[in-house]
Amino acid sequence: MEDYKHPAEPFRIKSIESIALRTREEREQILKEAKYNIFKIKAEDIYIDLLTDSGTGAMSTTQWAALMLGDESYAGARSFYRFENIVKGITSKKHIIPTHQGRVAENVFFSTVLKRGDYIPNNTHFDTTRANASHKGGIPVDFPCPEAAIADELPFKGNMDTRRLESFINEKGADKIPVVFMTVTNNSMGGQPVSMANIKETAAICKKYGIMFFFDCARYAENCYFIKHYEPGYESKTIKKIAQEMFSYSDGALMSAKKDGLANMGGFAAVNDDDLAQRMIELLIIIEGFPTYGGMSGRDMDTVAVGLAEALNEDYLAYRIGQIEYFGKIIERAGAPIIKPTGGHAIFIDAGKFLPHIPSEEFPGQALAVELYKEGGIRGVEIGSLMFGGYDPVTGEKITALRELVRLAVPRRMYTGSHLDYVAEIVGKIAKKKGELGGLKITRQSSYLRHFTVELEKLAMNRIGIV
Ligand SMILES: *Cc1c(COP(=O)(O)O)cnc(C)c1O
Repeated sequence: MEDYKHPAEPFRIKSIESIALRTREEREQILKEAKYNIFKIKAEDIYIDLLTDSGTGAMSTTQWAALMLGDESYAGARSFYRFENIVKGITSKKHIIPTHQGRVAENVFFSTVLKRGDYIPNNTHFDTTRANASHKGGIPVDFPCPEAAIADELPFKGNMDTRRLESFINEKGADKIPVVFMTVTNNSMGGQPVSMANIKETAAICKKYGIMFFFDCARYAENCYFIKHYEPGYESKTIKKIAQEMFSYSDGALMSAKKDGLANMGGFAAVNDDDLAQRMIELLIIIEGFPTYGGMSGRDMDTVAVGLAEALNEDYLAYRIGQIEYFGKIIERAGAPIIKPTGGHAIFIDAGKFLPHIPSEEFPGQALAVELYKEGGIRGVEIGSLMFGGYDPVTGEKITALRELVRLAVPRRMYTGSHLDYVAEIVGKIAKKKGELGGLKITRQSSYLRHFTVELEKLAMNRIGIV
């Protein structure tokens, strides 16, 4: 059997946090009480938490030190200027608007630019982006590249389908499309990266039709690492240079600093247009705070400023991307099909393929997520028909997701290679008895982001003729 190697961590551990595994009986009871919604399980009852890589990473000693330097002045804090300086250095945008999370940047932006019935194309919307766009009256549309749906290992499966984008613009009219988004890396499409060529092409289309071009750039540093290693012409450029080029094609960006900001909280909008920035800031003051803190404390802005710089470090990124690659290999070897190649922040188990006897309507991804907890105290998240399904608000038609995935996201600088080995061992145990797993049924749900609050119950196995 092939031997895979976890990259040596480019750091050592200075402070630890204990974790413990509950007994099987306790885990079964916990699942029942959580109504089979893993978001409702208490963190202390989780052994390995791969729910998200958002805000869950470990900060460096430099970030903890920066925290003490936080300037908590209401207006014009030094922390803001340090934060603004680093964000400007990367994005080269004129106005940096701090927010406490990415979704507030989305709220402020969409509330300002959208008219009811406007379309927002994206390579693929992330869930909060989709929800914010529709909540403000917009119609989010996704144009993932055709290669995203095939099994081949291609390097840039996060790309935008630029041909479909352009024909969509021609069909609906540019006046119905205020902005086109590019999500880097493409979170909902397996964390796959987008190539610089595709970014340039998309930007050129937007320019041709006079449409703004924005990044949803939570994981831009990871995306730049992929560009450096897989796109000809970038091998000898620094990650920062690649990032600067990438942002130079855009009119702005929205970022959740809880990912490549290597911080536990934070975000921003970066925009060039003076009038747009002014209108966004007016709303920011009402819902978040004064424009030099926007919902963050001074110390938060300092940890983000340091984190943004650390995330551009190549040793860190090589370890980060290498860790995910290793994780994908050992999960596959354990018997679960995954989306390949592995992306930047997570591995995605194809639960639809893994559990072909469970139909989409019965949420095979959620069935696997529940089993991972039951078997090993592991928390992942379903990204499939539970997250994206439901009913079309216009036609009332039933929607199921393109694919039924379970994401195992890896918090940054947090778990070691042996933690990941443990997860693979549990996946191997589940693979051996996967035919025994049954589906789930929704008993309660909300209209937006239903996966956060949904309640479910287990379906009896023999209901669909499987014993
Ligand atoms: C996390 C994320 C967001 C939302 O950011 P929050 O900080 O969680 O509000 C938006 N887009 C993408 C691609 C993300 O990964």
